[in-house]
Amino acid sequence: MRIVVAVKNVPDIQSDRAFVEGRVDRVPEDGTLNELDENALEAALRIVEALPEDERAQSEVVAVTMGDEDAEGALKKAFQLGVDRGVLVCDEALAGSDYFATARVLAATVRAIEEEGQVDLVLTGMAALDGLGSVVPALLAAELDLPQLTLAGELVVEPATDGGAPPA
Ligand SMILES: Cc1cc2nc3c(=O)[nH]c(=O)nc-3n(C[C@H](O)[C@H](O)[C@H](O)COP(=O)(O)OP(=O)(O)OC[C@H]3O[C@@H](n4cnc5c(N)ncnc54)[C@H](O)[C@@H]3O)c2cc1C
Repeated sequence: MRIVVAVKNVPDIQSDRAFVEGRVDRVPEDGTLNELDENALEAALRIVEALPEDERAQSEVVAVTMGDEDAEGALKKAFQLGVDRGVLVCDEALAGSDYFATARVLAATVRAIEEEGQVDLVLTGMAALDGLGSVVPALLAAELDLPQLTLAGELVVEPATDGGAPPA
């Protein structure tokens, strides 16, 4: 099983914010993994942990983030939590991306990962604590043409009983 978890590097929400050239300065010198994304990472790791050993050995949890070089900090935290791989999508052209651009880039990243093998589940946090938009997950699902399950409190994966594909 391959699970992709989208994680965002966010500024410490307690710290002061300022405008730079008409935009909110979000360059998070005090950046950290978005707290709500930890829930998604934990859910992914728990799902893999519960698999039979042979399946677990072939499974991976991939943390993906789009951001500047500092966003590596969010991936480091994800590694500390136990993910197998981290992907940082970083390009000056992405600075100032809105929700749509963010979702499109994340979707392209999931598709690139899928070239290596099936992605069974894509998880996100409920919201990024800096933007609090809760918009990216829905747009990401739309970009990937996948159904979206919102506000999940717990995730349990069971074998499909009808022989069909597992739920996305
Ligand atoms: C017109 C406009 C202009 C903007 N300009 C800027 C700007 O100049 N600079 C700036 O920093 N922001 C800017 N933003 C905000 C930026 O678009 C959002 O930060 C980003 O799209 C994510 O939205 P959010 O923070 O509300 O995330 P939410 O939708 O609340 O995120 C929910 C979940 O989606 C995932 N996710 C969200 N963002 C990422 C990411 N980057 N990588 C991986 N996973 C992610 C995480 O799992 C997260 O928990 C702008 C937004 C708009 C609408």
